[in-house]
Amino acid sequence: MNDGSSSDFDNFYFSERRMREILDNLTLRARKLKGSGNTSSGGGCRLIAAIYINKRFVTFGYNSNKSNPFQMKYGKNDKSIFFHAETNAIKRAINLVGFDEFKRSKTTMFIVRIKKKPNSSEYIWGLSKPCRGCTTAIIDMNINNIIYTLDEDQTGVKAFEIMTRKDLG
Ligand SMILES: [Zn+2]
Repeated sequence: MNDGSSSDFDNFYFSERRMREILDNLTLRARKLKGSGNTSSGGGCRLIAAIYINKRFVTFGYNSNKSNPFQMKYGKNDKSIFFHAETNAIKRAINLVGFDEFKRSKTTMFIVRIKKKPNSSEYIWGLSKPCRGCTTAIIDMNINNIIYTLDEDQTGVKAFEIMTRKDLG
């Protein structure tokens, strides 16, 4: 949790309005993705992550049924080789800006999970807190802030959480 007192956070802080704008935009994009990823959640669950460097958009990633060696490094076991949205976005960003530049930049990751509302065709937000493997990738790449959606079923509203690098240890 960011309590607003962290000064290294303030340097590249997104306004609440801007964060919401970005999350809404990602929600629209996620709705256009073909359902992929975790079929135990009904197959209608879609996850998208975006990376911003110095407040500028760099790239998206989404959960995918394509395997990738990069994901294997961060999977929970040898069989978990499918790209997660976060590792997908990280891999793309490394390709675009280079590993070293990525690591030393002020980076923010936005993550949105959408899921079908029960008995409805409507999509609502789901909890998109990164899994352990993605958290490791986030720490490795020194991503400073992570903004992720909370479960709309639980909160009753479209709410999100901000984690800083410090929260990840
Ligand atoms: Zn993950």
